[in-house]
Amino acid sequence: MAEKITKREVDYSRWYTDIIIQGKLADYSPVKGCMVIRPNGYAIWEKMQGYLDQMFKESGHVNAYFPLFIPESFMRKEAEHVEGFAPECAVVTHGGGAKLEENLFVRPTSETIIWSMYKKWIMSYRDLPILINQWANVVRWEMRTRLFLRTTEFLWQEGHTAHATYEEAEEETVKILEIYRKFAEDFMAIPVLVGKKSEAEKFAGALHTYCIEAMMQDRKALQSGTSHNLGQNFAKAFDVKFQDKDGNLQTVWATSWGVSTRLIGALIMAHSDDNGLVLPPKMAANQIVIIPIWRSEEEKSKVLAFAENVYADLNSEFDVILDDREQYKPGYKFAEWELQGIPLRMEIGPKDLEKNQVVLVRRDTREKMYTSSENLRNKISEQLVSMQRDMFEKALRFREENTHEIDDYNLFKKQVDSTGGFFYAHWCGSAECELKIKDETKATIRVIPFKRDIEKGRCLYCNGDSEGRVVFAKAY
Ligand SMILES: [Zn+2]
Repeated sequence: MAEKITKREVDYSRWYTDIIIQGKLADYSPVKGCMVIRPNGYAIWEKMQGYLDQMFKESGHVNAYFPLFIPESFMRKEAEHVEGFAPECAVVTHGGGAKLEENLFVRPTSETIIWSMYKKWIMSYRDLPILINQWANVVRWEMRTRLFLRTTEFLWQEGHTAHATYEEAEEETVKILEIYRKFAEDFMAIPVLVGKKSEAEKFAGALHTYCIEAMMQDRKALQSGTSHNLGQNFAKAFDVKFQDKDGNLQTVWATSWGVSTRLIGALIMAHSDDNGLVLPPKMAANQIVIIPIWRSEEEKSKVLAFAENVYADLNSEFDVILDDREQYKPGYKFAEWELQGIPLRMEIGPKDLEKNQVVLVRRDTREKMYTSSENLRNKISEQLVSMQRDMFEKALRFREENTHEIDDYNLFKKQVDSTGGFFYAHWCGSAECELKIKDETKATIRVIPFKRDIEKGRCLYCNGDSEGRVVFAKAY
C-alpha cells in the first residue's frame, strides 16, 4: 500500500498529494478548484475546531453566523479591502431566475457584512467590546489547486471584534496571536515564528497584521494564522460610532483574525514521512489501534478474548480502534494504519499472550516496544505524551538546522534556491527593496519577529540603514 506514496526526495509535491489521496483525507471534486474533505481529513478539522473553540470561549469570545452573500456596495466601502479582494471574488449576478438589482459577492472574508451589523448593535460604550467568532466557509477564486493549501472554497474561523480604544484592539490582536501560537506548538507540535507582517504582506484594510509562520519539510514557510489590528478603517467605512462615558461620539476600533483548513496542510507537511501521515497524538481522532494476530482457530479465540479485554480497559481513557477484520492480513493493516497516521499500534499475538505482553509501535519513530500488559494505560499515556513532545522537538531542530543569518545578497540568492530555509537578513524597510527581492528570488518577508535583536546593519538589497533582521523565505 505504501508503495503508492512518492518519496519526499523524489517529488515533494507529489508526496504531499499522495498522502492526502491515499490517506483518504481529501479528494478532488467535480468543481474545479474545490476539494472534498473526506472523513479522515474532517476528523482532523474537528479536533482543530474543538481546541480552538475552547480557547476562544475561555478568553471571552462567542460564536455567531453571518450570511454567505455580501452586497457589492458593502465590499466597495473600504477602498483597500475591495482592491485586495475583488480580483479573487465569485460574484452572483442572478437569483430566482432573474438578474439581481445588486450583485452579491460570495464572502471572501466577512468584515463588511459584520460591520454593517455592528452599526446597528453599537450605540454606547456599554455595548463594547463585541467579541464574536464565526466558523464558516469562504470563497477565493484559485487557478491552481493544491489540496488544503490553495482551494477556491475553504473552511475557517474568523473572529471580528469591536473595541472602544486602540489599546484594547491591539491587546486583542496580540492575545489571539498567542492563542494561535499555543495551538500550533502545544497541539499541532509545530514550532512557529511570531511577529508582524510587512506593509506589502499585511491584510487588505488592516493597520497591521501579526502572524505565525511555520517551516515545512521542504524548508518553505507556511503562514499558519493571522491576527489583524484593523484600526478604525471598517468602523469609518460603515460609520460605526459609540457614545463614550462623557457623552462624546467616538469611532469604534476593530480586529479580525483567522485560521483555516490550511492548517491540515501544515500538519501533513511538518510531520509526515514516506510511509504516510504522521499525526501528533493530540490531533489524532484515534490514538491507538489494536491488531490481534492469529493463525489457527484456537489461537484466534484466545487472542481475540485478550484483545477485547485490553480494548475495554484502554477505551475508558483513550480513543481506540480494535481492528479485528478477518478479510485483511496483519501486514496490510499495519501499512493501512501507518498511512493514516494513527500514533500507536498495538500488536497482540499468541506468543505475547504467553508472555503476558503486548507489542507497541510508535508511528513517528516506528520504534517497536515489548511491554508487559500490566498497567497498560499508564504506559500508553507516557508514550503519547513523549511522542507529542518529541515531534515538536524534531520539528524545532529541523527549523533551527535550516535557519541562517545572511548579509550577502548574491549568496542569499544562491542559497534560497539551493538549500532553502529561513534567512535572517537586514532590511531597510522600503517596499521597493522587498519587491525587488521577491521578483529576483521569489523569497518574501515572512515575518518581522517580535523577538529580534536590535542590531544596526545594512539592507540586504540596497545597503541602506537597517534596525534589525527580518525573516525571508519562499512560502506556500
Ligand atoms: Zn533596502
